[in-house]
Amino acid sequence: MLNMGTSYDYDLIVIGGGSGGLAASKEAAGLGKKVAVFDFVKPTPIGTTWGLGGTCVNVGCIPKKLMHQAALLGHGLTDAGKFGWEVPEKVQHNWTTMKDAIQDHIGSLNWSYRVQLRDKKVDYHNAYAEFLDEHTVKAVNKKGQEIKKTANHFVLAMGERPRYPDIPGAKEYGITSDDLFSLPYCPGKTLMVGASYVSLECGGFLHALGLNVTIMVRSILLRGFDQQIAEKIGDFMELEGVKFIRPCVPTKIEKLEDGQPGKYRVTGKYDDGMEFTDEFNTVIFAIGRDPCTSTIGLEKVGVKTNKNGFIPVDEEENTNVTNIYAIGDICEGKPELTPVAIQAGRLLANRLYGLGKERTDYINVPTTVFTPLEYGCIGYAEEDAIKKFGEDKLEVYHTNFWPLEWTVAKRPENSCYAKLICLIPEKEKVIGFHVLGPNAGEITQGYAVAMRLGATKADFDATIGIHPTCTETFTTMNVTKRSGMDTQQAGC
Ligand code: FAD
Ligand code: NDP
Repeated sequence: MLNMGTSYDYDLIVIGGGSGGLAASKEAAGLGKKVAVFDFVKPTPIGTTWGLGGTCVNVGCIPKKLMHQAALLGHGLTDAGKFGWEVPEKVQHNWTTMKDAIQDHIGSLNWSYRVQLRDKKVDYHNAYAEFLDEHTVKAVNKKGQEIKKTANHFVLAMGERPRYPDIPGAKEYGITSDDLFSLPYCPGKTLMVGASYVSLECGGFLHALGLNVTIMVRSILLRGFDQQIAEKIGDFMELEGVKFIRPCVPTKIEKLEDGQPGKYRVTGKYDDGMEFTDEFNTVIFAIGRDPCTSTIGLEKVGVKTNKNGFIPVDEEENTNVTNIYAIGDICEGKPELTPVAIQAGRLLANRLYGLGKERTDYINVPTTVFTPLEYGCIGYAEEDAIKKFGEDKLEVYHTNFWPLEWTVAKRPENSCYAKLICLIPEKEKVIGFHVLGPNAGEITQGYAVAMRLGATKADFDATIGIHPTCTETFTTMNVTKRSGMDTQQAGC
């Protein structure tokens, strides 16, 4: 309950110093408010921990994209020979060199976030916060020291942590992406369990770094994404040598040998009841992430969560409790992406303490999956568009394309693909944008602006392409799926 007569330690306490929490706290402090951030990382089962900045900076987007870059450079070395560079035939990758360089960069980011908070006069507490009542939290630091602080408003931004399956050996012998990016040794032969973003991205770069990688898939690849593209990603990874085991789930992990890495036997079960068994040096679970909402006393203040622990919020990030807001990955039904959390934090603080009225627009959020062949998308997956509007209301334009850089390099002619899903009754407004190819993230971002502005297929056609690029494909697409015409690229 708001109590204007009471004086609190802070105007705002933010729980969670990740993408959303830092954005909200800095914005609020910039608007003259007294703000504190509580951020604390509980160690993983094998003891990995990290600094200020949350998932994205420490164990998400940043190390993932840098390891993806290491993988692309490896491909570049192979291509380079075709372009005349005399690269030695056997080029080795050094895990420790890569890991140390990436961790150094992350260390500098951790430091810069601390400096930013200090400069903005935000109090940073490296302590785990828990509600005592709707205006008070207690927080415990790693030495066990406890403090209590009060505030008028609270922003919850605790993010998520990886889930482990309930099978023998999972927590004892398996790791997750929370451990991978700072692993002190090369993981060796690796099993990735799960088939979504994290699994395919990590499996993709580990394979490109020269490791033997198997991906265990329970059902489909990339649930929630356009399934035609998801399968194309799988096909490309398989072509490159990643093994896929599907449909299969692990049932137990046993240690065979200690070491860095050690050796483990994984037993699994295929859908048809057949048994899977193989030996791996590292088993990485990427089977989803749980919101960190169960141990912060939400029940004491009455903040509701759904059955999976996510917090339902309205379009202004209000929870059901008046002075408590929630942003980022812990929110029910919102895209779990860094820029979404940042935008929500920034705009919320502006509405609370500034003149802002703007709300975060959760529609048409662009995203990119950094698999070996990158996949950028905005809006509807084809099957979702069909479900919502009906097949007869849609025109789907598509084409394969062969990036110029791939021609001399002799890379596959028909792995890259572009697709536009257009709504016929609305002048072929583009409601789904999909690109599978190099630099998909860079390509996709600009089209997100066009789609916000309601671009139609005619707008794409009237736009002059930039030659020679991959993205110019979107200005010249004229084959519809309905026509059944071939979109394969010829080799010359
Ligand atoms: P977080 O950034 O997770 O921050 C929450 C913080 O709160 C953490 O530091 C946590 O330890 C702390 N905390 C939790 N409970 C408490 C408590 N009680 N007291 C104090 N502190 C607490 N997104 C993209 O946009 N692009 C990508 O390429 C991308 N790649 C990813 C790759 C991986 C492997 C993963 C796992 C995620 C990736 N994401 C990516 C998603 C992105 O990282 C998240 O959407 C984003 O970090 C969410 O921000 P947040 O503020 O909600 O939470
Ligand atoms: P997801 O929840 O998206 O996917 C979980 C995967 O694990 C699914 O393939 C699921 O299969 C499988 N799975 C679940 N339980 C089991 C089990 N018991 N045994 C075997 N397989 C299982 O989780 P992620 O961790 O991949 O991603 C979490 C979020 O992080 C994403 O929603 C995304 O927003 C964000 N992220 C963003 C990235 C980016 O922007 N590039 C990169 C990485 C993450 P099934 O389909 O059968 O349910």
